[in-house]
Amino acid sequence: MRSVVDACADCDVCRFLMDESCLFFPELYRLYDQEKDTGVPIGENALSRLSDMCTLCGLCPCPDIRMKVIQAKTERARARGMPLSIKLLADVQRFGQIGARAPKMLKSALSSPPLCGMAGKAAGVHPERSLPRLPDESFFAWARRRGLDRPPDRTPRVAYFAGCTAGYLFPEVARAAVAVLERNGVSVFVPPQQCCGMPTLLEGDDQTTLQRAETNLNTLLAAAREGFDIVCSCPTCGFLMTSLLRERAVYSAACQRLLGAGADEIKVPEAERGGKGAACLKKSMYENILKDDGYFSSFDPLQRIALSETMLDMGAYLDGLRQDGALNAGPGELSGRVAYYAPCHQREQGIGAPYLELLSRIPGLTVEPVGGAMDCCGMGGSLGFKKDFHDASVRLAKPLVRKIQAVAPDAVVTDCLSCRLQFQHLLPYPVRHPLEILARAYRAGDPEI
Ligand code: SF4
Ligand code: SF4
Repeated sequence: MRSVVDACADCDVCRFLMDESCLFFPELYRLYDQEKDTGVPIGENALSRLSDMCTLCGLCPCPDIRMKVIQAKTERARARGMPLSIKLLADVQRFGQIGARAPKMLKSALSSPPLCGMAGKAAGVHPERSLPRLPDESFFAWARRRGLDRPPDRTPRVAYFAGCTAGYLFPEVARAAVAVLERNGVSVFVPPQQCCGMPTLLEGDDQTTLQRAETNLNTLLAAAREGFDIVCSCPTCGFLMTSLLRERAVYSAACQRLLGAGADEIKVPEAERGGKGAACLKKSMYENILKDDGYFSSFDPLQRIALSETMLDMGAYLDGLRQDGALNAGPGELSGRVAYYAPCHQREQGIGAPYLELLSRIPGLTVEPVGGAMDCCGMGGSLGFKKDFHDASVRLAKPLVRKIQAVAPDAVVTDCLSCRLQFQHLLPYPVRHPLEILARAYRAGDPEI
């Protein structure tokens, strides 16, 4: 963390660039300035707290800097272990699996204020937040009941990665994804899946993260080999699998061989920066900097790249069908006005705003895009739940919240379920996933947004 502070203080770009878009940089520069003014070095606890403020939203310019922060969190977790409160709060899969086994009575009791408050306290949740209500049935149980855990023969067909938040906390979102796909003649397979790994990665638990990510890598690539399109409805899972997983894979020996690099060459494909061809650098000068030594470098680099190029955001997949004239069903009419917010991990995948296109085809529905490239909901996964960061999380969300309030919509629409939790906490409007709106539009005679 010390090396991150020094590098970013030396560069200074994010002092102004990220001033209103993340908690991490304002705190970094505050600590640095204070150290310069007082001569008292930044302490270990302050550095540790600083690392907690990065939620890997991907908005800042340097991937290497944010991965160094993750490395710092990982080393801290290895050295000190992880507090029980973090283990309970941050691991959505574990929370969801325990919840799924809990009897119905206990689930309703847990959503009542006194018990919810006690459970939240044990998990280090700020008293103004409530834990999400556990559904009666997880999406995965529903999918098994519908036989979606068996690969269908009919094409077109997709393997659907729901992610653990939709899988365990908001199954209505994943069910809407299935409804929209089936309505358009696409057969759905829900393969065995683990949490994408982002929540545990953010808390420094690399063992769990790597085990889960590797399981998904193998299962999803196997489905792709069987001819399935691979789709996911959670932008954070998508960001991990299309972006983080492949970071630095191109510098591996296997990729360099495929790119035809000579003995003293490192080839850097321009495609990594949106261009064509490859820049050629001297290996003897750059081999210590440009190497496959990132978080996921223990996995096969070619498989990491293969999954990142195979995985499709559900909005992009459906919009692709639309462009090919393969969307079978025209949506029915809905009435009302929705504010659509494209979350950070969707924006960072560089896929445009496919849901805007799809929602704007619904007759009778007015869709107002809200939020710019640097807007943030402030939730940061589970950060906004934590009692130490709740107030900062709410402060960070303020500019975006004001923009939504200015629209005064009938509902807020966003594909990120972490943003959903924040909007539900801060705004009086219902919050929906775009797939829920599409599913409603496909259901005749259900005009409610
Ligand atoms: S993240 Fe990169 S651009 Fe931003 S201050 Fe640090 S080194 Fe500079
Ligand atoms: S990844 Fe996001 S939260 Fe982390 S430092 Fe960059 S902008 Fe801030």
